[in-house]
Amino acid sequence: MVGVYGANDAANICYLCLYALQHRGQEGSGIAVSDCSEIHLHKATGQVSDIYKKVVLQTLKGNLAIGSNKYSTEKDRHKRNLLPLVAELSFGQFAISLNGSLLTNKYREELVKAGTFFTTSTDTEVLLHLIARQGTYMKPEEAIAETLKGIKGAYAALFMTKDKLIAARDPYGFKPLLLGKIEDAYVLASETIAFDLIGANYIREVEPGEVLVVDKDGLKTYANIGKKERRLCVFEYVYIARPDSIISGNSVYKIRKTCGHMLAEQIPAEADLVVPVPDSGVSAGMGYAQVSGLPLELGIIRNHYVGRTFIRPTQEIRNFGVKVKLNPIKDIIRGKRLVVVDDSIVRGTTCQQIVQMLKEAGAKEVHMRIASPQIFFPCRYGIDVPSKDDLLANRFSLDGIRKFIGADSIGFISLDNLINAVGGSDYCCACFSGDYPLKEEI
Ligand code: AMP
Repeated sequence: MVGVYGANDAANICYLCLYALQHRGQEGSGIAVSDCSEIHLHKATGQVSDIYKKVVLQTLKGNLAIGSNKYSTEKDRHKRNLLPLVAELSFGQFAISLNGSLLTNKYREELVKAGTFFTTSTDTEVLLHLIARQGTYMKPEEAIAETLKGIKGAYAALFMTKDKLIAARDPYGFKPLLLGKIEDAYVLASETIAFDLIGANYIREVEPGEVLVVDKDGLKTYANIGKKERRLCVFEYVYIARPDSIISGNSVYKIRKTCGHMLAEQIPAEADLVVPVPDSGVSAGMGYAQVSGLPLELGIIRNHYVGRTFIRPTQEIRNFGVKVKLNPIKDIIRGKRLVVVDDSIVRGTTCQQIVQMLKEAGAKEVHMRIASPQIFFPCRYGIDVPSKDDLLANRFSLDGIRKFIGADSIGFISLDNLINAVGGSDYCCACFSGDYPLKEEI
């Protein structure tokens, strides 16, 4: 997600930031831009580089913009759910984008009963209707703050009128949102790498519970909707963020490497080589090799050009799902005892296919090491994790998992070690521990 205020080419800056943030959502992307008299919107399915062609960006004129890449969960995987949404409210045209999940079912039902129609199945549209229903005398930031005070959720959100950019984070700060500056323009983005690409300076994070406004009078905190103890999603470090990002002052790369160190100390293996699963297991794999003293080889290579519109083979090909992305270097792994390091196991399908592929390519032994604990609980806060029954950790014992994936041994970093690696307990670790900061189901 990205927001820009005060740059002549706001949509272009948005586009560059969305390009840097592509890994956070690959289903589609959208930008809403204001030239002070009108908000223009462009959104489509696909990847950022395919959506925003030069001719498209030329039509998106203005100095204020918000944009987001679509990350889908099972419940909202539809083209119509692309963000931002733009609507006409009492204070004029209004755009909204949201990363996360809101407890809105009750409100949706009430609104539907009252005759409200929805054009999407998103929580974001429910929030939009609730903001629209605040008193017409309210300023947009007031309507937003009042609405958010009454809704529970895990979110970072961006809003825009024709001349105002507004940002908000839930009181626990589950989802990241950072503030930067480039010349006289303010930029809001989900990860620091967006600032790196455009040459913006990082200023600070939007605080949990903060409603922040940027307009012609500059930047100010408008309200605090009730700060709680911090609970940023720990999966940002495990999988979601790019390794070159900085979260809460910590390098994601260094944290992943530390997880690799701890994994090697916690669960050593008799082996010849460490082979990381690219890209998500590379940093931890390097850490594992460093502490174990085993050589590291990039024995699996990733094809980075597998798009969503990939045409699948008409005939069954064994392990095709993983083979199309990952290919082993047979010369390196043949006859070797491998420690294979990946970031996480969710359903176990990827891991099973990787082990099979490596064995078929001649690996003598495969010792799987995972740089996050076992995932026992679904995410209620917007990360696409399947139901409890589909999570591998709930289907088998540890040895059952080893057998299921076909490995010679398996080990996961302990939750205590992960917490030590990220430097504290002020993270949401609910997918590992079941300790959901918000007691209500979202
Ligand atoms: P699975 O095959 O379901 O066990 O998926 C695990 C693989 O998917 C790991 O290699 C991760 O890199 C990746 N992964 C983990 N969490 C997610 C997520 N929420 N969305 C997409 N991919 C994920």
